[in-house]
Amino acid sequence: ISAKLNTTEASIFSVMSNLANQHDAINLSQGFPDFKCDQNLIDAVSFAMNAGHNQYAPMPGLMDLRVAIAKKFDLLYGTSYHPESEITITSGATQAIYTIISTFVKQDDEVLIFKPAYDCYEPSIKINGGKPISMALKAPDYKVYWDEVKKSINLKTKMIIINTPHNPSGTLMSKSDMLKLQELTNGTDIIILSDEVYEHIVFDDEQHQSVCRFPELKKRSFITASFGKTFHVTGWKTGYCCAPKALMQAFRNVHQFNVFSVNHPMQKGIADYMKDPNRYLELPEFYQQKRDLFLELIKDSRFKFSPSKGTYYQLLDFTDITTENDLEFAKRLTTEKGIASIPLSPFNDNARDDKVLRFCFAKTEDTLKKAADILNRI
Ligand code: PMP
Ligand code: GLN
Repeated sequence: ISAKLNTTEASIFSVMSNLANQHDAINLSQGFPDFKCDQNLIDAVSFAMNAGHNQYAPMPGLMDLRVAIAKKFDLLYGTSYHPESEITITSGATQAIYTIISTFVKQDDEVLIFKPAYDCYEPSIKINGGKPISMALKAPDYKVYWDEVKKSINLKTKMIIINTPHNPSGTLMSKSDMLKLQELTNGTDIIILSDEVYEHIVFDDEQHQSVCRFPELKKRSFITASFGKTFHVTGWKTGYCCAPKALMQAFRNVHQFNVFSVNHPMQKGIADYMKDPNRYLELPEFYQQKRDLFLELIKDSRFKFSPSKGTYYQLLDFTDITTENDLEFAKRLTTEKGIASIPLSPFNDNARDDKVLRFCFAKTEDTLKKAADILNRI
């Protein structure tokens, strides 16, 4: 078969979650909560269904929801996106990312990505004929080396994809990182795709440095976000993207033919639910308690770590435990010890082994205690 994407590999998230299920292991691999979302959110969606919001939503998304998102930008970042022309509701951040890339990336265009990188960026670039150019975020602090980025920018550079808070490392871009990105892209036509799905999961009173806080960056950027991550409903696959009007118009030209519009009752329910800003303002504290509990429980284990600064993932360094590579070790922990995690090498073209595993702490206290009991015995 002649196809555009030749890979026989399943995503590492499917591999590890399937293995966890087969071995009845505690699943701290794929990033999703094991607790219920707020009943008020379910009630809001169910109310929307009963009220008849069951046919196609408008192509760019329900206006109520776009207005709620615009208010959130105002409140959190002191900047606005116009609900009419600058915000579009998507089927999760994944669809937004794919559609943004396919809207702009042409044959031989270069797209800078930072490795370890979330797994959907690279295939989406390749399917569209583009060339992913990898920039290394080096362990253990996973900082961006801006001098290397500067050297890699040329006339073929179409897009730069950033992700803060960063999956899988749990690090954040600082204000000076964003200013550097702004400086390097000023005067160019480069589009920034800023994956901010973990914007509300930032710890220790740090601030999320959204691209929209930087006016010159905002002009050239798309932000992608995920209600799945924000409201503990990853299975709803509902998210959105925002960008200045001209960029968003180009996006919608494609969106209207590959999706047209996304699920209507979820949009209505989320719009009603978001009327109370506490629903997202309380998230940093909620997840910080989980991170702190998890780290306290495993502080005497043989794993080394520096606390995650954002996202609901924690990297644990296993250098003192085994010389196995990360994939072998992650599989053995799942099959023999009953705990599943995500190895980082698949986020690094399998070319690099940082001797760390990623554990998701979006779990109940009970799950985290059971997980820690196992990790402390390794
Ligand atoms: N980007 C990153 C960095 C992610 O971790 C995820 C997983 N939530 C996504 C995008 C995709 O989000 P969604 O589930 O809304 O498609
Ligand atoms: N974003 C989630 C993670 O990083 C999983 C998404 C997926 O399963 N594709 O674990």
